[in-house]
Amino acid sequence: MSVANRRRVLHALGAAPLMLAGCASIRGRPGSRRIVVIGAGYGGATAARYSAMWGGDAVSVVLVEQDPAFVSCPLSNLVLAGSRAMADITVGYAALGRRGIDVVHDRAVAVDAARRRVRLARGAELAYDRLILSPGIDFFFDRIDGLGTEAARAAFPHAWRAGPQTVALRRRLEAMPDGGVFALSIPRAPFRCPPAPYERACQVAWYFKRAKPRSKVLILDGNEDVQSQKALFMKAWSEDYRGIVEYRPDHVLTGVDVRTRTARFETADAVMADVLNVIPPHGAGQIARSAGQQATLSNREGGYALVKLPSGEIRRIHDSAYATIGQVGNVDHMNVSSGKAGRTRWQGRRPHVRGMVMNPIDHPMGGGQGKSKGGGGRHHPVSPWGQLAKGFKTRAKHKASDRFILERRQKKK
Ligand SMILES: Cc1cc2nc3c(=O)[nH]c(=O)nc-3n(C[C@H](O)[C@H](O)[C@H](O)COP(=O)(O)OP(=O)(O)OC[C@H]3O[C@@H](n4cnc5c(N)ncnc54)[C@H](O)[C@@H]3O)c2cc1C
Repeated sequence: MSVANRRRVLHALGAAPLMLAGCASIRGRPGSRRIVVIGAGYGGATAARYSAMWGGDAVSVVLVEQDPAFVSCPLSNLVLAGSRAMADITVGYAALGRRGIDVVHDRAVAVDAARRRVRLARGAELAYDRLILSPGIDFFFDRIDGLGTEAARAAFPHAWRAGPQTVALRRRLEAMPDGGVFALSIPRAPFRCPPAPYERACQVAWYFKRAKPRSKVLILDGNEDVQSQKALFMKAWSEDYRGIVEYRPDHVLTGVDVRTRTARFETADAVMADVLNVIPPHGAGQIARSAGQQATLSNREGGYALVKLPSGEIRRIHDSAYATIGQVGNVDHMNVSSGKAGRTRWQGRRPHVRGMVMNPIDHPMGGGQGKSKGGGGRHHPVSPWGQLAKGFKTRAKHKASDRFILERRQKKK
């Protein structure tokens, strides 16, 4: 364990008051600070593990996960190809328990950031000193016409979260006749893991080549080009899977029809497939979007959304625009004190001579008698080139976008 990391965890926790546990049954350590992590995927499980390791006895870590076991997304494409079974890519959470982490199997439904509490689906409340949200993604099924129903989701499994959906898609591939078409619809970027859909196409083509050589993989990409490692994938499709894989860009999916197994697109012709794998548009997990981590949509009027930003500014944003308005994750950055010059040096920053102790010819703040500031003591701190070093207003006085600001941000007290 790194001493620096351990100190950082304890330092960050030191500022928070100790909260009592709610009725969720967890062990905890008496007198310790509690870190609650929501979501035990790669992100959450790693955060929980290192928090417990670096925090030692001073912290107790509670991991909230809705699923009974972890199933690896990256390896799930191998299950689709038939070269791995689900059991190979599924791991229980017992190992985290042995590391002193309390794993609570429940779904977090709300975060009360003011009271520092997480509400769980079964009704319990969990108090925390620090909260880590790592819920992965949520799917926006309603953005595709016809995909909002349970029947449609069962008919067109996305398998973009590994688990029962992976099994469902594999079964469909196995049941597909030789000579059939597997169509893979990719949403517009950004989406989770840019190379993964193209890798999936390769894995399914690998399976077809061995088991159903007359079958076809049709990639219907909502983007204008391959989003990752283009040269590599193009080479594989034209050499290893020639005649099996066909790539079609600019296929933005607008709707699906369960009865005819058809996909409709914004500009391209509709496509019928034996197995249609629709990866729906997706974004940050719902709990992460509702935890007070972002700006508030306060109203909608005249084609504009009124958004209250964390600074207090209320601004109009056109409601056809996509915006991700968040708070910097590293909110405690300003509380970190490097402690000694050596630590800053380890971070790659070299010592530098202050302008004030230089001669006037070398720096605008140089010169003067004794400890006087350069320029007769009236000089604002500046860089060697005269730029104000402590910040200055950069916004134009009369800017065209002023009309979108309904209320200015609150002034610093
Ligand atoms: C087919 C595919 C292939 C991929 N291949 C690769 C690859 O080769 N390399 C790579 O680096 N990445 C790959 N990725 C991406 C990788 O899987 C993700 O980046 C990674 O899983 C993200 O981890 P996460 O912990 O953020 O989210 P997730 O793994 O989705 O975990 C989130 C967890 O939070 C839980 N959760 C969500 N909401 C709640 C709630 N309210 N209460 C309780 N629990 C909740 C979920 O049950 C889930 O277990 C691939 C993804 C896919 C789909």
